[in-house]
Amino acid sequence: MMMAHNLYIHVPFCMKKCNYCAFYSFGCANPDWQKYADSICEEVKFWAEKLGRINIPTIFFGGGTPSLMPVSVFEQIMSALHKYFNVLENCEITLESNPGTLDKNKLSDFVLNGVNRLSVGVQSLKNEELEFLGRIHDVKQAKDLLNSALDMGLRVSADFIYGLPHQTEKNTEEMCADINKLGLQHVSMYELTIEKNTPFGKMNLEMPDNETMAKMYTVISNVLNLPRYEVSNYAIPGQECRHNQNVWAGDAYIGIGRGGAGRVYMDGIWYDEMGAFERFEKIDNTTRAEEKILTGMRTTKGVKLDEDIKMLIDFDWVNTHKNLVVEKNNYLYATSDGLLVLDNLLLDLIK
Ligand code: SF4
Repeated sequence: MMMAHNLYIHVPFCMKKCNYCAFYSFGCANPDWQKYADSICEEVKFWAEKLGRINIPTIFFGGGTPSLMPVSVFEQIMSALHKYFNVLENCEITLESNPGTLDKNKLSDFVLNGVNRLSVGVQSLKNEELEFLGRIHDVKQAKDLLNSALDMGLRVSADFIYGLPHQTEKNTEEMCADINKLGLQHVSMYELTIEKNTPFGKMNLEMPDNETMAKMYTVISNVLNLPRYEVSNYAIPGQECRHNQNVWAGDAYIGIGRGGAGRVYMDGIWYDEMGAFERFEKIDNTTRAEEKILTGMRTTKGVKLDEDIKMLIDFDWVNTHKNLVVEKNNYLYATSDGLLVLDNLLLDLIK
């Protein structure tokens, strides 16, 4: 019996690139969608031939801008998934969206075809900031989309960016107070990082210093009315993104589409895999266990102390560290102060 796999499907197209974005995506309003659908369906068939009719607990359409995709293309992909895999009845099916590419009617067509969770790239609740970031939508479009999705009874998440040039913790505090008014079950808060080869990377922007960024991070967890469950993610308990939780806990997942990455488990061996048949390489169990520690420790629940994990952790060091907690011998997690300095902790944590 093959192990269940979560699916990540990458949609690498956007109307236009945002000024900060280094994700694998192309600014292209009218790509060859049929070619895209055919290539995704071919990959689905390939994995079904390798892994059989596996159970699929979650599907995440990420990008790029999945909401740019015509619903007919989404329909073709979903029917291939149902044809080749056992998409579980309670499968979480998330669609990432840009409010400039999705209205109520298109959203309800996606929902008719299986989407039950919408992730919206809101990024800011100020029009001048959206313009600075190079977003193609305004605040009203974002709020309208969130409200439509909530009215339809979908599980809804919104992404925001904090730490723009010259911002202070006061700005972050105001932003979080405004976010609280939206009535969301799930929010992701990302610090603006300046990446080379983006318009921002060429602009010599004056960013808040590390100390201010750390204060902003603390303000977010103090002001947002949703508890943090991962370094950048906040949700009403029970409304966490199941797909990401499974991936962070170390479950198997397949990345489909150019730019998608996966960790496939087959015949007792882990594989590092990249969509569009770009990579398929064995990884040893120790490397896989280290990955689980890195992703698990980013969650407030922590990493489950299975045998493969226990072997790698220096518990003598852990026991002397006030920001690390071993709970009932079952999970190891970092306190909220620990999450702030997680990268340093991880360096010493693994033997
Ligand atoms: S919409 Fe998202 S993926 Fe596309 S360019 Fe903007 S940030 Fe990047």
